[in-house]
Amino acid sequence: MTRVWREHDVDTTFRRAHRYIDGNETKVIGAFPVLTFKPDNSFDLIFVKETAGAMTSYSDIHQNDSALIFLHEQLQGSNIIDGDKTYVTAFPIHEFRDSTVGAILLSSDAVEVKHIHWNALGLPRLVSNWSDMVIAFNIVDDYAVANNFAGGFLDCHLIDEHRRLFLFKKDYFERKSIPEWRLNHLTNFRYNFCNPPFEARIRKAHNIICSILDANSCNVLTERDTLKLKEMYYNNLTLSHFEDNNMPTLGGANINCPSIYFNINRLSSADDISIARIVFHELMHTIGYDHPADENDPAYKASVPHRVIFCIPSNGDSNDAQIPIPNFCQLKRDLHCPT
Ligand SMILES: [Zn+2]
Repeated sequence: MTRVWREHDVDTTFRRAHRYIDGNETKVIGAFPVLTFKPDNSFDLIFVKETAGAMTSYSDIHQNDSALIFLHEQLQGSNIIDGDKTYVTAFPIHEFRDSTVGAILLSSDAVEVKHIHWNALGLPRLVSNWSDMVIAFNIVDDYAVANNFAGGFLDCHLIDEHRRLFLFKKDYFERKSIPEWRLNHLTNFRYNFCNPPFEARIRKAHNIICSILDANSCNVLTERDTLKLKEMYYNNLTLSHFEDNNMPTLGGANINCPSIYFNINRLSSADDISIARIVFHELMHTIGYDHPADENDPAYKASVPHRVIFCIPSNGDSNDAQIPIPNFCQLKRDLHCPT
């Protein structure tokens, strides 16, 4: 749908990178997005391994594209000492809670720091807005890759006409190309939840489903189904909670409508696998698949929305074939999609 940084929306790109981790990557604490347009509709993300740094939070940081510039001005080019460790810099993940923002500290072992004159690589002298930042980051990324690093960025703060480059060592960072459709939903989907923290759990479920689509590992899906689902992840979906919380049903959808519902009260104690299965089931309704209301009807068991739930790998400790699913789903059959 969008190549966000071209729309002056750097913070969305950072937020997507960080949200991609949950359900997709283990043993990483963050992800740094490479702000470069690629013609194959993918973005490069650079994953920050646990050994490369730590997560912290800063207060009173600008909550917009300039958060990184603002943070670097606060740090004034100095190292950050935390416990017995020295960190050379930090970048915000753009997840804001009130006046605080999460940030990733990068350890001095993981990053090669290079002091250069501001003009050495054709860098802009000042980095004071998103446009300078994108230009500067692209120049540094090219330089880093050419010199066998996973990537890098720079200190937005200029000292004595010099600035620091932070080059990511490959033992501590891993760079991967991620299709845009696997990233867009992380900020494009609309959540109308009574319990906003529950959003993160549904986003994780979507990450799990996207990895299955990307690997083409669910043999219940036709090629056309997979294409339709990828298109939806690229575009939009509305996710809401059931208005009647006394309902026993876990989830619901309208056939062929880009919206699904969850009974958040009943799902709050469910594990990640169960939630991903419910999301996958409901998604199949959004692309047109139906089933009888009676879960004991053999046609229900043979339906695509029921069968896809077995494409979500279990933790290995449950008997998949016997999953009890009373009141799994309620289909709405309105003439028009809800808006
Ligand atoms: Zn259903």
